[in-house]
Amino acid sequence: MQEKFTPYLKQQFENPAIAEQYLIQPNDILHKFQNLDPLSEDSHQPIKGLIHKYKNRVLIKVSYRCAAHCRFCTRIREIGSNEGDLKNDEAIQNIISYIKQHTEITDVILSGGDPLYTPKQTLTILEELENIESVKVIRIGTRLPIHNPKSFLSLVIQKVLDKISEIQKKKPFIILVHFEHPDELTIETIEVIKQLKQTGATLLSQTVFLKGINNNFEILKQLFENLYWNGVMPYYIYRCDYVQGLEHYVCNINEEVKIMTELRKVLSGIAYPTYIVDVEGEGKIPVPLSFWSNINLTQCTDFNNNSINIQV
Ligand SMILES: *Cc1c(COP(=O)(O)O)cnc(C)c1O
Ligand code: SF4
Repeated sequence: MQEKFTPYLKQQFENPAIAEQYLIQPNDILHKFQNLDPLSEDSHQPIKGLIHKYKNRVLIKVSYRCAAHCRFCTRIREIGSNEGDLKNDEAIQNIISYIKQHTEITDVILSGGDPLYTPKQTLTILEELENIESVKVIRIGTRLPIHNPKSFLSLVIQKVLDKISEIQKKKPFIILVHFEHPDELTIETIEVIKQLKQTGATLLSQTVFLKGINNNFEILKQLFENLYWNGVMPYYIYRCDYVQGLEHYVCNINEEVKIMTELRKVLSGIAYPTYIVDVEGEGKIPVPLSFWSNINLTQCTDFNNNSINIQV
């Protein structure tokens, strides 16, 4: 993956909490982890651009492209490549037919890459999903408000937002913004948040624990409170995935549990995200807090009640 950032981000690179998310660091490449795809996404891809890992919900990778490249991206193996572009209507139609045929799919997530970085394709997909009766909820995951707030002034993005306004009158629409640090809530980004709220969609956020950037009680408290105060509900905080190239971002799990336990004591439940580890070959499993004794963090049971060991 190459370095990529926007002029807007570059202005903030004096702040290490921002710069270290995008710039290659001297200790960057450890390659202790062997796997580039520990979440087995590639093997859950029935057709190009669609991940079907959980029975009732799917994730569409609209492209592999983003306005900026986060060095800790779970999909570091493909980010920036144009291989993931859903170039023609046929690629999109294949995905739509699959979703129509599998009526058990009620929840569709547009991800990538950043769906708002390729607004035309996203608009086409939304126009299709809008009319599929078995699809009850639509979500879009994006970091564009943090990477390039100015782009929300563009006409194509305005068209996507208008479409979202229209859809959310019929079915719930969720915009899931990815925040890592309270300093990302700049005046410009908050402006975009307000604009997104005007669509009537629900705004949630997700975060990844990043060593040296946000594995800190005060920082996360500020982040979650500020999001809440701006009308964005923290949804998930993930333990960083064990993807090759991400080694130096992975925090100590005991430290994470301690931070999340302390945060639970001071934050409203609404401002408090679920703390998740996405276990290799399994899926998202919530990590227990220290309110319960004698919990072994290296052992958990999967969704089928089988015991599994996780690396810590
Ligand atoms: C996280 C994820 C989802 C959505 O899971 P929720 O718990 O409903 O947010 C769906 N598909 C894939 C592949 C995912 O990684
Ligand atoms: S915006 Fe999301 S998909 Fe794009 S590089 Fe960052 S984490 Fe990965």
